Amino acid sequence: TRKHKVSVIGSGNWGTAIAKIVAENTLQNSDVFLETVEMWVFEEKVEVPKDSKHYNPSDPLSQGPQNLTELINKYNENVKYLPGIALPKNLHANPSLEDSVKDSSILIFNVPHQFIIRICDQLQGQVLPYARGISCIKGVDVQEEGVSLFSETIGKKLGIYCGALSGANIANEVAKELWCETTIGYDPPHLDSKAPTPVGGSPSQSQVDLISFEHKDTSGQYSKVKLRALPNDYAPIDHALLKTLFHRPYFHVRVVNDVAGVALGGALKNVIAVAAGFADGIGWGDNAKAAVMRVGLLEMVKFGTQFFGNSIDTKTFTEESAGVADLITSCSGGRNFRCAKLSVQRNAPIEEIEKQELNGQKLQGTLTAAEVNKFLKKQGVENDYPLFTSVHRKPSIISCFFFFANL
Ligand code: NAD
Ligand code: 13P
Ligand code: CA
Repeated sequence: TRKHKVSVIGSGNWGTAIAKIVAENTLQNSDVFLETVEMWVFEEKVEVPKDSKHYNPSDPLSQGPQNLTELINKYNENVKYLPGIALPKNLHANPSLEDSVKDSSILIFNVPHQFIIRICDQLQGQVLPYARGISCIKGVDVQEEGVSLFSETIGKKLGIYCGALSGANIANEVAKELWCETTIGYDPPHLDSKAPTPVGGSPSQSQVDLISFEHKDTSGQYSKVKLRALPNDYAPIDHALLKTLFHRPYFHVRVVNDVAGVALGGALKNVIAVAAGFADGIGWGDNAKAAVMRVGLLEMVKFGTQFFGNSIDTKTFTEESAGVADLITSCSGGRNFRCAKLSVQRNAPIEEIEKQELNGQKLQGTLTAAEVNKFLKKQGVENDYPLFTSVHRKPSIISCFFFFANL
């Protein structure tokens, strides 16, 4: 059988941690996967930090800025976005987007959501037509037509099927192999049963152009996506295979069919984490934060039901790691929470705190709050979502009080 080649598109804090996980698993399951995992890196010049164990003043690599890919491949460590964590040697950092996805049957998308559309544009025509994707991105795609999930946007743009992975997964903890759970949503359309089975060799075009599925977006419009079937000399990409690829003793995977719930939970909890940060920042206690989580969870359920009612199972929000558990961890120690809290304490814009504190890492909650607000306004239901709306309107202490007074 042909082995699956796996690529990770993205190499930030979470991108690198996920790449570590899958590279550990391809190594241990080399009967179905090629051992080498390609990780696309948005190339930049980086200096080896002076407190890094790789810093050595007499080493040319420690003298001035170097390509991040070269540092990752030399030291098996992402010294900028995941410092101090040893990466598997079979993980290869690749600065070329096109080359990093070449011949890959499994594509894992893991970049801050503001960058994924441009990346997909660049990837059009470059990926295997029968590849399958998993989006680890936490955000929503708000366009004129409505709101969609990045799993859908990626799938449509690349003509592939794409599921989602999301959970209570602070990257630095996962990278240190501290125990956690995650949720994968994956539910590709079924193969046309009349499809002829290819006999030997690579299947012809007509044999693989088999599946089409319909996606209904929030405006009620259907779009047909034609999918290529995976050639049958690969192991099928199903729930069991995804578990083999992502599950680790410290990273427990549950696979469900509700892709929309998984993707939406990850996006909306970032907005709620910002609200929790504001509440903490004004000096309110854990009780107030718990109230924010309660109201936030209800708005999440309402949003899912109202705009993705056909495709979502709201139990994902209340029963899976991708819902309530991610909400809790993000409101405890996530970057959105921490930066929102500091922005109130220092009375500075959150974007400024992001630049000062995160060393190039990106917040998703503030952008998502603005995007969700734009969509809610257009639908005329802004006031039905007081928490989402007040996060967008920003955190003067007065608006915090106003918000809490109106819960
Ligand atoms: P990050 O916050 O570390 O962001 C930095 C990354 O963005 C770097 O790889 C950088 O090269 C890249 N970047 C910067 N400018 C770019 C550009 N113009 N084009 C393309 N890439 C560019 O990223 P992350 O933590 O890996 O987050 C990726 C996704 O994973 C996000 O949606 C996030 O919400 C989600 N997530 C993060 C965590 C976490 O704890 N970090 C956990 C779970 C999910
Ligand atoms: P932050 O981006 O707020 O750090 O959240 C990380 C996360 O998604 C944890 O599951
Ligand atoms: Ca290990």
